[in-house]
Amino acid sequence: MCNEITSDYLALQLGLYQPFIINEENADQFEACIKTPKKFQFDSYCIECKKESTFKFHSQRGYLPVYPPEHGPVNFLDRIKVDYPIDLLLKCQRDGDHLFYLPLLIRGNKVTKIGQYPSLADLQLHKIDKYRKILNDDYRDFSKAIRLNSQEIGAGSFVYLRRIFENLIEEARQTAASQESQWDNSIFDRSKMDEKIKLLKNYLPEFLVQNRQLYAILSKGIHELTEKECLDLFPNVQLAIELILDEKIHQKEKQKKISSVQKFVSATIERLKS
Ligand SMILES: [Zn+2]
Repeated sequence: MCNEITSDYLALQLGLYQPFIINEENADQFEACIKTPKKFQFDSYCIECKKESTFKFHSQRGYLPVYPPEHGPVNFLDRIKVDYPIDLLLKCQRDGDHLFYLPLLIRGNKVTKIGQYPSLADLQLHKIDKYRKILNDDYRDFSKAIRLNSQEIGAGSFVYLRRIFENLIEEARQTAASQESQWDNSIFDRSKMDEKIKLLKNYLPEFLVQNRQLYAILSKGIHELTEKECLDLFPNVQLAIELILDEKIHQKEKQKKISSVQKFVSATIERLKS
């Protein structure tokens, strides 16, 4: 299925150096985007404002050729026989100094994004900032996964997500080993991941236990899936990892509140006794 060519698609979804083909179906959509660039706008995170904003067209360098009327109506596909670089500059509506730069190269019937500022990764990374504390050293791996994925490196990005997954399991194993007197590491080491997760079910977020096949997807990604398949699966695998982390944050906050209330109750009881 072809993507609908919109300003949102060109700015926020299309990867660098991944040309898409202009055909009879989408020629009008693409022409509408660049022929009336004043309408070119999209909502995105602004790395300067550090919040969501709207970016609107400001200026353009490079235009599609306009044929004199005596040529008669010239079909868009016929006009793009030679190379046309088109640079679009957009501005954040909250502050005109905050820029979004988008250069495209039209070559034959192919359109390629040949640069972008801010990068797709920079637009994504703020979303995972809240996991920095809970992930500690793994935060770097999580941001690497997102960077690689935004550079269209599919299996490579899966390697980092799998490592995060394995570290979550290892962390739970250490907790189980320190809390359960009957805990047997040798049984754990001999088990497959599916079994390991079941053994650790009291120490892992419920979502992870229920969706433990996620590990099979991550492992398969590295060995069997194509780059394209990995790239297509990435957003949902990322979401699943985020859900696991959300639950961890929630549990941690809950524990903090519980111990704070416990402290309050026992301190107040002591005070009332005296
Ligand atoms: Zn801004």
